[in-house]
Amino acid sequence: MMYWNEPIETMSRDHMHALQSERLKDTVSRVYQNVKFYRKKMQELGIEPGDIKSIDDIIRLPFTTKKDLRDNYPFGLCAVPKSEFVRIHASSGTTGKPTSVPHTRKDLDTFAECVARAICCTGGTREDVVQVAYGYGLFTGGLGLHDGATRLGAAVVPISGGNTRNQLTLMQDFGTTILACTPSYALFLGEALAEAGVDPKSLDLRIGIFGAEPWSKEMRKKIEKDLNLTAYDIYGLSEIMGPGVSISCEKQNGLHIAEDHFYPEILNPDTLEPLSDGTTGELVFTHLTKEAMPLLRYRTKDLSSITHEPCDCGRTSARMSKVCGRSDDMLIIRGVNVFPSQIESVLLEVPEAKPHYLIIVDRQGTMDTIELQVEIDDKYFTDEIAELEKIRKKIKQKIDSVLRISVIVKLVEHKTIQRSEGKAKRVIDKRHI
Ligand SMILES: [Zn+2]
Repeated sequence: MMYWNEPIETMSRDHMHALQSERLKDTVSRVYQNVKFYRKKMQELGIEPGDIKSIDDIIRLPFTTKKDLRDNYPFGLCAVPKSEFVRIHASSGTTGKPTSVPHTRKDLDTFAECVARAICCTGGTREDVVQVAYGYGLFTGGLGLHDGATRLGAAVVPISGGNTRNQLTLMQDFGTTILACTPSYALFLGEALAEAGVDPKSLDLRIGIFGAEPWSKEMRKKIEKDLNLTAYDIYGLSEIMGPGVSISCEKQNGLHIAEDHFYPEILNPDTLEPLSDGTTGELVFTHLTKEAMPLLRYRTKDLSSITHEPCDCGRTSARMSKVCGRSDDMLIIRGVNVFPSQIESVLLEVPEAKPHYLIIVDRQGTMDTIELQVEIDDKYFTDEIAELEKIRKKIKQKIDSVLRISVIVKLVEHKTIQRSEGKAKRVIDKRHI
């Protein structure tokens, strides 16, 4: 058994409660003093820093949303002068203004600590060769894994995303043992490996650290088989830090949260009431140590649940379930809640289908339509219309019964749907255009 930071990772719940309480009090007084946004919100709620006596008082504090980050772009929520920044990350502004996330030197130190802890939790050591195939740049995946693996003392291959042929070559030549990327890119790399005729067993790969998008357990099984490794979930978001906020361990029984730095809550997304352990709701995080831009009760929109039961791996931290979707990714079609992950799970159970798909939602008159384009394995893509129709009907039947609505299924040839080197785009919703 190996821990990166044993005193923290195996701390008793009482001690963790005391540590979190101290850190929350400090964070609240810093934002009250330095961030006008929070001072005003707290004044509106009639609370002062002195009212926060322990972590249990967190429910009295105001929320923060993505919109608040946009409205205060770029540095309106910062609690330190700009001269303290040593790096500024930013999200791509796909829907309007981007959001920025500055870090102080101590913030980057925490980031590296959390990612080193995470890699260690998957069984990684300084002996490993870590191929970082997450994008480098404003997105936190690349630099986050890079700094954490460096802190661990492993050998980093900073290849970034894309350049698939080169990924395979270096994987073979350098003896890569840990691959870090998005699950959709891991799936693609597995496919490319098979096409190149490389037996995955001939590689040294043993651990995959995948995150930044939701993925099903069926997809995980496929990636593990195609790349001959054990896959681990890494979770994070740039607003809070980036990858390393939580990580799954060898027991594969939820993701351990670095809750000495990030306090998690699960709330009912509609009423914002706290939910009990084991109930799925919206994940909310509060920074406990962040210097540059500490956020109180940041609403992630990610859906998950939490348990505080100790894990068989010996770690005592709260564990979150794998994110099962986003409250804002959920499609509501004819009044029914549809998650893209449900479709992915079905496709991975159909041998003729590839797990590459595109969901197109449209509206005809007042009626929502949902079309699903599915790639078919070359082996099954014949000129025999009757054969193809049989496959199409089989997929449609399975999807309809899982989603409980009727879906238009279209079969397309292998490699028709655009591949992603980062996060996959699975849904086109034409209703909002
Ligand atoms: Zn564990």
